[in-house]
Amino acid sequence: YQAKRDRTGVEVYESKRDSNTPDRLGLLGDLRRALDAHEVQLHYQPKVRFDGQVAGLEALVRWVHPERGKVPPDEFIAIAESSGLMPHLTEYVLETALGQVARWRAQGLRVPVAVNVSPRDVHTPGFAGAVAARLARHGVPAGALQLEITEHVLLEDPQRAADTLAALTGHGVKMSLDDFGTGYSSLVHLRRLPVSELKIDRSFVARLAVDAEDAEIVRCTVDLAHSLGLLVVAEGVEDDETWERLRDLRCDAVQGWLVAAAMPPEETTAWLLARGSRGWQRPRAALPAAA
Ligand code: C2E
Ligand code: MG
Ligand code: MG
Ligand code: MG
Repeated sequence: YQAKRDRTGVEVYESKRDSNTPDRLGLLGDLRRALDAHEVQLHYQPKVRFDGQVAGLEALVRWVHPERGKVPPDEFIAIAESSGLMPHLTEYVLETALGQVARWRAQGLRVPVAVNVSPRDVHTPGFAGAVAARLARHGVPAGALQLEITEHVLLEDPQRAADTLAALTGHGVKMSLDDFGTGYSSLVHLRRLPVSELKIDRSFVARLAVDAEDAEIVRCTVDLAHSLGLLVVAEGVEDDETWERLRDLRCDAVQGWLVAAAMPPEETTAWLLARGSRGWQRPRAALPAAA
């Protein structure tokens, strides 16, 4: 740890220092053990199109700590990122997700799965080749895997990140830009990143139906994405009205508690089987029309 000082000579506390508190070190050790013991699980949340078809599933990591209970992903992912454990966590997530995709395919369920990757992963040498090798090992076609990245991949060594992403898309893996709108100068990034999908951050979607400015932001984002040939997914859709507004704004797909929260694997299988080829139907659509 190197102390950083600002221009006035005052020591600046960096997150690096915070990451070394005993609590975080304890959690880090526990996470390492939890991965080895397979205590970390993946849950899956559907992305559905407006005709009800399931466009894919997002794998979301879940950790129930034996003493602390559920640890929120945002918390332990930050720890994994600042400690060097991230590549190990991502390998675990990719391995688990691809194994599940292979089992679903064997059952006739051909649904693509999206895995979140951190900027760290994209900067790990050999990442693209390792993903391709893993797909081959599981006998899963690259088109069945999507990787969700954020604009943060371009913060450090953008050229190297762009090369890795180009290699991944070259293998046939689809890239999705997550949390769109929360980074800095998003437009520049859109041009530089080889993504085929853009996910509008929940913070713009949540109040879409009641806030005219948020609605305008979403409208412009959808139009911009479409003019660049990208599909648009809205995150965090919790109610009917938001669903309807997004449909009217020509968003392509939604993800959120209105449809389903992230579910454990067996529940996801049952959910997929129950929807069959009809896809997801809005509960209200099943009610008889008012006279
Ligand atoms: P994200 O990728 O943007 O994932 C969406 C988050 O929104 C998830 O939180 C999901 O459970 C939550 N969500 C979905 N629908 C709704 C809704 O209708 N309302 C509300 N309020 N929330 C909703 P979660 O699972 O806590 O994950 C948080 C973040 O942690 C993720 O954000 C992602 O950045 C990261 N993450 C999760 N799993 C992984 C992983 O396997 N690897 C990496 N690198 N990051 C992960
Ligand atoms: Mg995501
Ligand atoms: Mg997101
Ligand atoms: Mg998020």
